[in-house]
Amino acid sequence: MTKRRLTILGATGSIGQSTLDLVYRQPERFQVVALTAHHRVAELAEAAIRSRAELAVVADPAHYPSLKARLAGRDIEVAAGPEAVIEAARRASDWTMAAIVGAGGLAPTLAAAERGGVLALANKEALVCSGPLLLDAVRRSSAVLLPVDSEHNALFQALAGRPATTVRRLILTASGGPFRTASLATMAAATPAEAVAHPKWSMGAKISVDSATMMNKGLELIEAHLLFGVAAAKLDVLIHPQSIVHGIVEYEDGSQLAQVGPTDMRVPIAHTLAWPDRLNLEDQRLDLAAVGRLEFEAPDEARFPALRLAREALQTGGGAPTIMNAANEVAVAAFLEERLGFLDIVAVVEAVLEGLAATSPTTLAEVLALDAAARDAAAAAVDQTSRQRH
Ligand code: NDP
Ligand code: MG
Repeated sequence: MTKRRLTILGATGSIGQSTLDLVYRQPERFQVVALTAHHRVAELAEAAIRSRAELAVVADPAHYPSLKARLAGRDIEVAAGPEAVIEAARRASDWTMAAIVGAGGLAPTLAAAERGGVLALANKEALVCSGPLLLDAVRRSSAVLLPVDSEHNALFQALAGRPATTVRRLILTASGGPFRTASLATMAAATPAEAVAHPKWSMGAKISVDSATMMNKGLELIEAHLLFGVAAAKLDVLIHPQSIVHGIVEYEDGSQLAQVGPTDMRVPIAHTLAWPDRLNLEDQRLDLAAVGRLEFEAPDEARFPALRLAREALQTGGGAPTIMNAANEVAVAAFLEERLGFLDIVAVVEAVLEGLAATSPTTLAEVLALDAAARDAAAAAVDQTSRQRH
């Protein structure tokens, strides 16, 4: 059996580490081509050694000497800088995990899409900020785009190859995050530590805050629209605190097919890693009797306005999702640095969406320019909001 050649963009993150965990279990099946990180070089070097990677790249060039020293005497190529991350994504490989967080992952993800092979997409921000561009690159290279995001992976599985345009509804489930039942007063006073403490999933800081505001589900509505080519009216969100049912496809005859599985990203990652086969994960066994009850409720758009904003951005179209995503990244970073209140995150995003014209970017340069303009506007809105608070 020839080994499947893999590249992991964002190898030191939560998704990257879960991917590597699966790779370590079956070294006879996989050959790691390249691993990339932003600045966590100790973790990157360790992963490169353990996975016998051919290439390790750190995006922040300041960390090049440290990475070089850690990999001295090993048969592993070392490189640094954002261009080197893009080069890594271009290297011949059968399968790429796109797991850099935020729009910073756009250029490498796009490079992987242009190269072809399987693109396992976790980096939803890249898709949201440049949907048409990324999908066009996938089409031109005949790459296979497989969703890693648990809800979209569930929908992909429940669709079982049928076109989503023929179904009645796609339902994305959401845990509701740490503030599912919290009052607005509690949310207004929420600290970064409280917002990042997700009840069900263990994830990076940015997506954890997105889950708390439910902007994550907003981004996922746009992600689903792009991945499956369905109108916003066919997309629904359902709160499901147990996070066992990940996505549901409703067919025209009223049947609903759901994908059900453990609350562990290794399950959807494994699906994309083996696709169209399956990996045998002995330790992943969901005991529904132990779970006991599955609950569902409608989302509360009054406490979670991010859902409405995302729907509006979809309706506006053009660069509105690009603006929404960039403003959200800036606002989340400011919240994590305690420069912005929790409820102000989505307020900043809304102010930026209202203040900036959503041009329709068609090239990478235009997407990046709109992304930068939205970041500037969001930074100004953050400053103004924090001045009002003090
Ligand atoms: P983490 O913050 O845990 O990891 C992010 C990874 O990206 C790290 O390897 C980091 O490197 C790297 N990185 C960050 N910024 C840059 C940059 N500018 N250039 C190059 N590399 C960079 O995030 P997650 O793993 O939680 O999430 C990754 C993506 O997957 C996100 O888009 C998220 O929305 C999506 N996702 C995550 C899920 C989860 O369960 N975690 C579920 C569904 C989707 P370093 O470690 O050196 O900082
Ligand atoms: Mg998700």
